Amino acid sequence: MMSIAATRRDSILESIAAAAKLARRDAADVTLIAISKTRGADEIEALIAAGQRHFGESRVQEAQSKWPQLLARHNGVRLHCVGRLQSNKAAEAVALFDTIHSLDRISLLEALAKASEKSARTPAVYIQVNIGEEEQKGGCAIGDVGALVTAVRQSPLPLAGLMAIPPLGVEPSPFFALLAKIAREHEVGGLSMGMSDDYRAAVMLGATAVRVGTALFED
Ligand SMILES: *Cc1c(COP(=O)(O)O)cnc(C)c1O
Repeated sequence: MMSIAATRRDSILESIAAAAKLARRDAADVTLIAISKTRGADEIEALIAAGQRHFGESRVQEAQSKWPQLLARHNGVRLHCVGRLQSNKAAEAVALFDTIHSLDRISLLEALAKASEKSARTPAVYIQVNIGEEEQKGGCAIGDVGALVTAVRQSPLPLAGLMAIPPLGVEPSPFFALLAKIAREHEVGGLSMGMSDDYRAAVMLGATAVRVGTALFED
């Protein structure tokens, strides 16, 4: 019998495939990242058993408390950091995560690069863009993307792409389209965009990674 998590995952993968097909894209170019913040090891392992390999957490401390044991038990699982990151957590983040989606300033890049040199680990980084130009929101200003792209390309860390979280309560598609345009301008390939409510639109507009929590873990 399939677990509930596996059933939900299958239907999300089907929706991703349908959106990719409509957009004349290859669904294999879209990675589903299961955002497992606040979720327990049992729920996570049910998804691993269903074939899920990419997981995301938003807090370093929470990830540290649950993932080392899970990673030791399961081969091939990749861990993504999707939350705001303080420079003083850079060493812990580099040690634990394979990909970091929230690089938004040079000082954080410097801290990550330094931690990378010490640990010989080189997580890939997405540059997070404050795409709605909102106060209080994570991400760099649109005008700062170019300088950050250049700095990452000169660093030991591979550039995975651009990431954004559109403003709440408004139609997200124009913001996805804008992020895709900025990525093209800087010849950046990866786009981490789309969550439970809007991942189909994100896939149609070019997302290469969608970050889905609620739709996987809740009814
Ligand atoms: C929590 C979170 C998600 C997942 O959001 P859902 O709406 O539950 O799918 C995606 N991205 C980031 C950055 C998050 O913090």
